Amino acid sequence: QALERLPSVPRILVVANQKGGVGKTTTAINLGTALAAIGEDVLIVDLDPQGNASTGLGIGRESRTRSTYDILMDGMPVNEVALETVVPRLSIAPSTLDLLGVELEIAAFQDRAYRLRHALTGLGGQGQSPYTYVLIDCPPSLNLLTINAMAAAHAVLVPLQCEFFALEGLSQILSTVERVRRGLNPELSVHGIVLTMFDGRNNLSGQVVDDVRSHMGDKVYNTVIPRNVRISEAPSHGKPAILYDINCAGSQAYLRLASEVIQRERLLRAA
Ligand code: ADP
Ligand code: MG
Repeated sequence: QALERLPSVPRILVVANQKGGVGKTTTAINLGTALAAIGEDVLIVDLDPQGNASTGLGIGRESRTRSTYDILMDGMPVNEVALETVVPRLSIAPSTLDLLGVELEIAAFQDRAYRLRHALTGLGGQGQSPYTYVLIDCPPSLNLLTINAMAAAHAVLVPLQCEFFALEGLSQILSTVERVRRGLNPELSVHGIVLTMFDGRNNLSGQVVDDVRSHMGDKVYNTVIPRNVRISEAPSHGKPAILYDINCAGSQAYLRLASEVIQRERLLRAA
C-alpha cells in the first residue's frame, strides 16, 4: 500500500528529544505562539501523556473531553479534537493520561506507526487546511508516540539543553530520525537544533554551544534560548511566556527563533 503524501500546507514539525526537561514543551508553546503572532495559523498536537503543553496553554483537564488519544485510538478527525487557546490563531489538540496506555492498545494495528499521519493528512478534507503550521510536542522517550509524530512530519526540531551530556543524547535522536526516514517517512528531515537554558554566567554553557556547533554546523539555529525565570513562571499562569512577558529575554529569543524557522522554511520550499 502506497504511503499517503504529506500535504504541503500545513507544514508539520515535531519537537522531540528523548530526555525530559530539555525545553520541548516550552519550545512548542512559545514557537507556536510566535508563529501565530506573525499571522500563521498554528495547531499544537500534545502527544505527551503529562499534557504540559495543554496546561501551559490554559486548557484545564475538565475541558479535555476529546484528546490526541481519540485521534490515535479511534482515528477521530483532528478538527473535532482541536480547541482554541488564549492565543489568537493558536489551537491545541490536548492530551490526557489515557495516552499512557495507547501504545499497547494500538500495538496490534498494522498501521500503528501511521495513526497520526492519517489524521494529519486528512486535515481540512478536500478543502483548505485550517492551519499553516502543526507543531507536535513529544513525550521524553523514543516510543511509539514519538515514532507516530516523526512518521507524520516534514521535519524535526531538537531542543538541546546546554549541559555536559548534550551531544551524547543528540546522536541517539538523530539516528532515530534516520531510521524513521528510511523505514517509515522518506520526507523527514532535521529542521534544526535549538540550544536551550543557556546560562551566560556558566562557562560550561558556552563550551556546550561551541561543541554542538562544531559537530552540527548550520543545523544549529543561531538563536540560543537563555535560562530565564519568566519562562519557567509562565506555565503556572496558563500562558505562553510570550503573552506573560513579551519583553523578557526568553520571549525575545523565541521570537527570533520563529523568524529563523520561517527563513529556513522559505529556503526549503524554494529548493
Ligand atoms: P520538556 O518538555 O523537554 O520536558 P519543558 O519545556 O517542560 O521540558 O521544560 C522543563 C522545565 O524547565 C519547565 O519547568 C520549564 O518551565 C523550564 N524551562 C524550560 N525552558 C526554560 C528556560 N529557557 N529558562 C528557564 N526555565 C526553562
Ligand atoms: Mg514536555
